Amino acid sequence: MSVSIDPGSGLRLPGSSPGSSGSSESLDEAFSKELRAFLDAYAPDEAQQMDGQRRHFGPDGVPAWAREWQALLFDHGWLVPGYPPGLGGRDATARQSLVYLGEMARRGLPRSLHFPGYAIVAPTLLEWGDEAQRSMAPAALRGDNVWCIGMSEPNAGSDLASLTTRAELVGDRFVVNGQKVWTSYAMWADYCLCYVRTGPLAERHRSISVLVVDMGSPGIEVRPLRQMTGRSEFAEVFFTDVEVPAANLVGAMDHGWQLTRSSLSHERGGLWLQWVAALERSLADLVGEARARGLSGDRLVRQQLARAVCEVSCLRWTGYRGFERLEATGEAPEHLLLKLATSECGRALADLGTHLAGAASVAEVTGREEAWSGAGTVRPWAHELVANFAATIAGGTSEIQRDIVAERVLGLPRR
Ligand SMILES: Cc1cc2nc3c(=O)[nH]c(=O)nc-3n(C[C@H](O)[C@H](O)[C@H](O)COP(=O)(O)OP(=O)(O)OC[C@H]3O[C@@H](n4cnc5c(N)ncnc54)[C@H](O)[C@@H]3O)c2cc1C
Repeated sequence: MSVSIDPGSGLRLPGSSPGSSGSSESLDEAFSKELRAFLDAYAPDEAQQMDGQRRHFGPDGVPAWAREWQALLFDHGWLVPGYPPGLGGRDATARQSLVYLGEMARRGLPRSLHFPGYAIVAPTLLEWGDEAQRSMAPAALRGDNVWCIGMSEPNAGSDLASLTTRAELVGDRFVVNGQKVWTSYAMWADYCLCYVRTGPLAERHRSISVLVVDMGSPGIEVRPLRQMTGRSEFAEVFFTDVEVPAANLVGAMDHGWQLTRSSLSHERGGLWLQWVAALERSLADLVGEARARGLSGDRLVRQQLARAVCEVSCLRWTGYRGFERLEATGEAPEHLLLKLATSECGRALADLGTHLAGAASVAEVTGREEAWSGAGTVRPWAHELVANFAATIAGGTSEIQRDIVAERVLGLPRR
């Protein structure tokens, strides 16, 4: 038994009539046929066993299969289909990119287990970098090297403009001193896209610059942080008199704030799909958990599940509506809601899972899959409950997202 609220496996978009056979629709059909054939033939078992949301690293970092998979996608033009062939794409249209993201999400397939390189660094270097920096983009996309993003600091998270890691220009190099925190992948990273203060702190966002820092440079110390899941996927990074060539400045000096907004802009209409698809898979497993525990006739449980189905299906349609509006007007307020709503919903579903599983979820030992498999639950709900807090913080906390929604969606005055 599975919960099916995914219209046409996400391949037919709202607005396209089932009977019509316009040429762009046939192109989209051909695109999706080729994609499905590629994924059927090449998606590795390890990737198919992931649920699309959880990150799996061994002590040595990104596993070999994940590196090979990312490179294979790049080489066949399926990593970022909207990019040209030399950059891991095939010049796909926005609708085709949505089809791609929908199919990957439906299968729960990750493109990469270290997203900063392909999703943030490559677009930033392509948009703002000089020729030498732009030439680093293909390797970042292909996953040939691992990148981390050095933004947050102990006193500069939500308020990034307070960052104090300082870079002084001395001759032909910057000397960097300070500390970053929550730096994902720092322990395995080859490079850091690092946000530094290059002018007076009082200038706030007008005195921030961005440097490409070689993580092998003398003076860098990486201290992994243990998360409440038991895993360590991010770290504190300390910089003591770290020398960085002046040529590694990305964009103009003191204009780093502009670079914070670079991302795979042609995919921004569909990134929500993976979050919604992950919720749909959780829902299907919640139904399985209720059945396995003899709770499928329980009125309260049925109501909780039905409420969750309504919520998740509203999120999918909100996403599609946002995509249509984005295509028509270039703006989609709907998508501002989706990071907030999907991350909070993910946490609520995992909470429901722990209630359904009851004592069995107590038997889970967080952070250890083998312990979970002995607990007899459909999913490691207790582990997911603590893991899912991360999504409500990373990339902007729920409180900050609510403020943004209040301002940009509801039109309330800026605080
Ligand atoms: C899994 C994960 C991965 C991450 N990876 C990276 C990374 O690779 N690189 C990187 O640079 N950073 C990373 N971060 C850091 C992340 O960007 C910050 O945690 C986030 O910006 C919040 O900053 P903070 O933790 O300093 O909390 P703070 O900004 O100190 O906020 C603390 C609390 O106060 C609330 N708050 C703050 N300001 C306001 C306000 N104005 N109104 C209402 N409430 C407010 C917040 O919502 C929060 O509840 C990661 C975080 C997580 C969880």
